This record gives sequence, C-alpha cells and structure tokens, in this order.
Amino acid sequence: MIVWCDRDGTLIEQEDMKYVLTPDDLFMLPGAAESIAMLQRAGLTVCVVTNQGGINEGFMSACDYKPIHDKMVKAVMEAGGKEFSSFICPHRKEDHCDCRKPRSGLLHYSAGVFREDPLHGWMIGDFWSDIIAAKNISLDIKAILVQTGRGKDAENETWFRRYGVYPDYIVEDIQAAAVKILYGDYAEKPLTQW
Ligand SMILES: [Mg+2]
Ligand SMILES: [Zn+2]
Repeated sequence: MIVWCDRDGTLIEQEDMKYVLTPDDLFMLPGAAESIAMLQRAGLTVCVVTNQGGINEGFMSACDYKPIHDKMVKAVMEAGGKEFSSFICPHRKEDHCDCRKPRSGLLHYSAGVFREDPLHGWMIGDFWSDIIAAKNISLDIKAILVQTGRGKDAENETWFRRYGVYPDYIVEDIQAAAVKILYGDYAEKPLTQW
C-alpha cells in the first residue's frame, strides 16, 4: 500500500512560506524521519509528493532539489528506513498542470511507478490541497491532516467545506499519523516500535 506524504510543514519545517533552496534550509520535523522509517519497515511504500512552484518561478531548478531530497533520505536511513522518492510539481498555479495539488497527477504517477493501487492508499499533509488531491482520486483513500506547518490555517476548513470533503483524521503531527496508519485506533502517540 502507498503512503503519500507532503513535504513542507508535514515532513520538514516550513517557516513563513519561505522556499527551501539548499539542504542547509531543510530541517526535519521532530520524529519525521523515524515515522517514515516505521512505515517503510511495515512494508508500505512511502512517496513524497510536493508542490514546488518556486522552480517555475525561477527561484531554483529541479536539479537544486536533488541534494535537498538526498538530505531527507539520509535522515530516514539513519532512522532505520530506506530510500524513497520525491515527486515534484514544478508548476505555478497559472500553468494549469495536472500535477499541482489539489490535482492528483503526482499521486497517480507515483502509484504507477511503484505498481501500487492508487485507490486504497493513505495521504499525510498539512494543507487542504493535500487532502483534496487524495480525495479527488478516491474517497477510499484515507487522508490525515497534521497540525504542524499550515495544519491549523483557517483556510483549510473553508476549502473542505467548499468541496464537501474532509480529512479522515486530524492528528498532531506526522508521528501520530504514522501510528494511526499502522495501529489504527488502538494506539496513540507515544507508542514506539523499533
Ligand atoms: Mg505542506
Ligand atoms: Zn504540476
């Protein structure tokens, strides 16, 4: 089964909407690397799906993303996990692409690459567009809104109401999301499995 994970505000710190341009700008959220590792060890396919409109804005190139991605992978591997992929939408809103969340292109594409069923996965994100991107594929995908990053933005509620679609779970952070995926309602943070 696939777990799509947003990057900014979910896996890493997002400060004042600033772009992460170099690995030095990247700070994993507490427990994030361990959470990805835990999901991977349970046999789940974890993919990062991220809007990086700064690429088409000209702030960075797609190649600049590679060392940033590598730093996240390193952190996950040090936490006992393995490699994973980042799927990146480089477009701006006005490019009208199919991959910029809340559209579902990144999710469809990544599921295809790993031969995963896109209809029965999990989504973890801190913003309404993450949740809607998943629910646009199938309401059977379980979507978890984390309260880190933009998770507490009032804008989220507005858009959920507009779409008539809500996250299945709202949890504190990615660690609680991983626990929810692995242990359902039977366990709450701080459960630990090494
Ligand atoms: Mg985010
Ligand atoms: Zn795109």
